[in-house]
Amino acid sequence: MATMKAARWYAAKDIRIEETQIPTPNDQQVKIEVKFVGICGSDLHEYTHGPQLIPNDKPYPLNGHKGVTTLGHEFSGVVVETGKQVTNVKKGDRVAVEPIFRNPESPFIATGEYNLSEPLGFVGLTANGAFAKYVVVEDYMVHKMPDTMTFEQGAIVEPAAVAAYGIQQSGMKMGDTVLVTGAGPIGLLTVQVALATGASQIFVSDLSENRLKKAKEIGATHTFDARDKDIPQKIKEMTGYGVDVFIDAAGVQASFDTGLNSLRNGGTAVLVALFAKEVVHDALNHALRELTVKGIIGYRNIFPQVIALINSGRLPVEKLITNVISLDEIVDKGFEALTKDPSEVKILVDINR
Ligand SMILES: [Zn+2]
Repeated sequence: MATMKAARWYAAKDIRIEETQIPTPNDQQVKIEVKFVGICGSDLHEYTHGPQLIPNDKPYPLNGHKGVTTLGHEFSGVVVETGKQVTNVKKGDRVAVEPIFRNPESPFIATGEYNLSEPLGFVGLTANGAFAKYVVVEDYMVHKMPDTMTFEQGAIVEPAAVAAYGIQQSGMKMGDTVLVTGAGPIGLLTVQVALATGASQIFVSDLSENRLKKAKEIGATHTFDARDKDIPQKIKEMTGYGVDVFIDAAGVQASFDTGLNSLRNGGTAVLVALFAKEVVHDALNHALRELTVKGIIGYRNIFPQVIALINSGRLPVEKLITNVISLDEIVDKGFEALTKDPSEVKILVDINR
């Protein structure tokens, strides 16, 4: 049996680098030789207090996967093998992967809203992922990358797609003002997308001074310490009546309240963060002010646009990379570093290092 090295989740605080079986694609799958993989906030959650999305007790219904899981869902690579029925890519293609599973039986496949199909699942969480030499994915997940795009950029397409989908779903228009709460990778990518879409003012709040500095560097016009109680009032003074769009990439009561209080009447909030706890919601206030509060999960029908935008140079996602490490270093220089060091933003694993 041929084996490869992989970073596999066993339990919270127990990720092991070990030899595992090299996967083989079925008729509708594609085998990819992995190049670069980003460490995501959801990987970090699995590491610090998982399992969250990893199916540890009951198998994931779409593929039967459960238990020990190779993490990694933000990645780029080269196609090395395709199943008999695969027509959209061929051996040698450089690709980025949209890791969300689609349930073919779901009514949301016919409507095109495939990210709403249940049960929700991702490569690298409900199937073995890309912190390994090879990964096998469904053919519909694979997107070709232009030759001019780097594999490092390719590994950031997935989180950039979350940010782009959030801005798209907000209905943001040229000249609009935006508040982003939370300046982690998704919040910072949202700043970049808002800028590329034509936002006139971009406000960012976070607890970390380092991250706010990064937000300024990449184009935020104003930053706030998230503990500042006067954010809504200050924003109203600077915009006249509040921001048109609020993107919550922090996902706690304080960010939710700050954001809704900073919105103009008639404005739109998009909840991008995966809230760990319930929040209190003043429905009468939302009705009286005609606020739209919208949730999003993942992305749909947006990878080609995100790839094109990154390739054009107008979405310089590579600016968010703070470190590139080897697979062997993933626990210490990856997960532990992200837990302890707020100046880290996006850490990539170079599988060939
Ligand atoms: Zn992710």
